[in-house]
Parts: sequence; structure tokens; C-alpha cells
Amino acid sequence: MNNQDLLKISAEFGSPIYVYDAEKIIAQYNRLTTAFSKIENLRVHYAVKALSNISILGLFKQLGAGLDTVSIQEVKLGLEAGLEPSKIIYTPNGVSLEEIEEVAAMGVQINIDNLSILEQFGTRHPSVPVCIRINPHVMAGGNTNISVGHIDSKFGISIHQIPHLMRIVENTGMHINGIHMHTGSDILDIEVFLYASEILFDTARNFKDLEFLDFGSGFKVPYKAGDIETNIEELGEKLTAKFKAFCKEYGRDLTLAFEPGKFLVSEAGKFLVKVNVIKQTTSTVFAQVDSGFNHLIRPMLYGSRHEIHNISNPGGKERFYSIVGYICETDTFASNRRISEIKEGDILAFDNAGAYCYSMASNFNSRYRPPEVMWYNGAAHLIRERETFEDLTRGQILLGFEKEFAEDK
Ligand SMILES: *Cc1c(COP(=O)(O)O)cnc(C)c1O
Repeated sequence: MNNQDLLKISAEFGSPIYVYDAEKIIAQYNRLTTAFSKIENLRVHYAVKALSNISILGLFKQLGAGLDTVSIQEVKLGLEAGLEPSKIIYTPNGVSLEEIEEVAAMGVQINIDNLSILEQFGTRHPSVPVCIRINPHVMAGGNTNISVGHIDSKFGISIHQIPHLMRIVENTGMHINGIHMHTGSDILDIEVFLYASEILFDTARNFKDLEFLDFGSGFKVPYKAGDIETNIEELGEKLTAKFKAFCKEYGRDLTLAFEPGKFLVSEAGKFLVKVNVIKQTTSTVFAQVDSGFNHLIRPMLYGSRHEIHNISNPGGKERFYSIVGYICETDTFASNRRISEIKEGDILAFDNAGAYCYSMASNFNSRYRPPEVMWYNGAAHLIRERETFEDLTRGQILLGFEKEFAEDK
């Protein structure tokens, strides 16, 4: 998928538009499974929340992956894409008992992350196997916006509460079949991750009937040239050794599960926008594009950096630009970026637009959410249409005020 392909896609389907390269997704999936190829029972559950188009889910089904879901709606999307319920794990946080029961009844693996729901669920459904999400209190990565393992995190059952957890399991007679952790989004230091995995093993020693250990995600991908990324190959080698040693001690070949989102889809995505206006102020040159945080909120929400290329003029002379959107709110995508000279009408491509981009898009300013295209087998396939005015008004009810007021008189 080169610049010419992207320009053709924006000419055919319009802008703004999301484009996903299936080859890149497949390559990342293969890279992960290759790094862990010595594990007999490896399961990769793609984290649906990163990018939830059903064609993306269908691609993962083809690859043999399962899904990690955080809502009943994500579970339903997975079923819609043709996945077996047994290939789906459901890891909610702060969700009602009713929703968890509904998902369990579909045959999906439940993962519970608090003692209150664990006790209630175990009391009512002692025969349904449950995985528990622990909080190992290990912070992977330094960005406090996305670390979920620390002591005050709302995620997981604290390892200090294991005695209480054991009492609930004993009293209800429920069956714990998996232990799960998801320490955060940025594994830069493999030693930190391995340290957290020791805590997972320690927890697992309390349970006699486990089937799997789920190490969550947190694989970091590069956002620009020279960025540190998780060394998957090194992690594969080191964790495989530890996992095998644990299984031997445990006396059973357990399944090793992961649930990456970003790692699998981030780099596959491009977001294409058109430059509406070049605006020169006393201090800055703004390029204003036909989008905003309604379509891609990561830079504004947590300061994420997305590389931006002018694919209409790739070899042009570079200048400094601030790339901003068209909505009535501060919506700065990038400040002081060197980009090859931009003219009004040019198409800009954002890198790393696969994960947490479309899935976080909204209709703010009553703009349509963009279409999505999958580049697969050397051709562009539309996998979601651009929204229309009907989509904006669907479900809204216009009250007949004039009539009511008139009758009052
Ligand atoms: C979000 C999430 C993931 C995926 O995280 P990435 O950083 O996108 O890989 C995995 N597991 C759980 C429970 C999650 O909430």
C-alpha cells in the first residue's frame, strides 16, 4: 500500500477516510505467534476495542485468533463476524452482574475483576468457569494516563486480596479456570513484565484446576523513526522459558494467552485528510484539515504523536506547520512539524491510525464519521460507509412544539 494507492483511495471514496493494510495486520500477528512458537497452546485474543470493524474481526478469525472484549456489544460484534463464543474472552470493568450473566450464557469465557461480582456470580453460577483478573501492582511504562497496574488503579483484584478471593472461591465452590493480568499499555522494560508474570505465577499456584494464564497486553509499537518498541522476540524467548518451567511445576500444560490491540493494528492504519485552508498567522502556519478530534482524538486526549505526511507532495521542500482540524474546539493534531510543502487541497496521511482512532470517533459538531477501507490482496475494499444525514438523525424525536403551544392558547 503506497502513496499512489492511498491517493487513489481518497479520490475514489473521499476524505477524511481510514485505510487499514491487511498485510501489516497479518505480519504483526505472525510476528507475535512466531515469537511464542515454542508454546504448544498459545492463544492470541485480539482486543476489539482498538478497532472494532467486523471485517477486522473477520480477518482475525481467518488468522485463527480469538477476541478480547470489554462489553456485550463487542461480544456481539465478534459473533456477527463469525467467531465461536469459545474463542472470545470478556474482560469487563465496572459492568453490571446482569450483563456478565448474559455474556456467560452465550458461552463466552468470563473474566471477573472485583470481589463483589465474583461472590455474586459464584453464588449464582458455581458451575460456570471464571477467569480472574488480578492487579499485580506493577507499572509498565511511565505514562500515568495509560498505566493500569498501580495500587490505586480501578482495574483488577489486588494481589493483597488473594486470601479473601480464596475464601469466596471456597464458599461458593466455583471453578477458577484462568488467571489474567493487563498491566498497562507500554512494555518497554521486559524485566518489569517478567517480574509481573512471576506475580501471576504466584497467584496461579493457589488454584488447582487452571486451564490458561492470560498475560494481557502492553506491547508498544513505534510511532516515529527511532522509537523504542517492545522487543517481542526477546520477550517470547524469556517468557516461554518461564512459562514452561511453571507448567512443569504445576503439572499441566496450560494455555498461554495474550490480548494485544495496538500491536496488531496500530501501524496498519492510515488516516487520510484533505487540507481545506492554509492560514498564516504572525507566528505559525496552520494547515486546517477536514477533520478534528471528532475523528482522531488521541493527540488531544493523551498527547499521542502521529507522524503526518503530505502524500500529495512527498518530495516537496519541508516547512514547519501546525496541523489543526475544522471543529469549533481546540483540535491540534501536531505543532511545529516539518512536512513537505502543503497546498490547499493536498491529502495528508496520519501514521499509526489503526488502534484507538476510528473506535474513539464521535459525531461532535454533527460531522459524519469517516468511511473505513481495508487494503487486501492489492485492492481497496470498503468496509464501512461514510455516515449520512440519516445516521445523524436516526433515533431522534422532534417534538411538535408549535402544535402544543398553539393548543394552549
Ligand atoms: C485495552 C486492553 C487490551 C489491549 O491493549 P493494547 O495496549 O491495545 O494492546 C488488552 N486487554 C485489556 C483487558 C484491555 O482493556
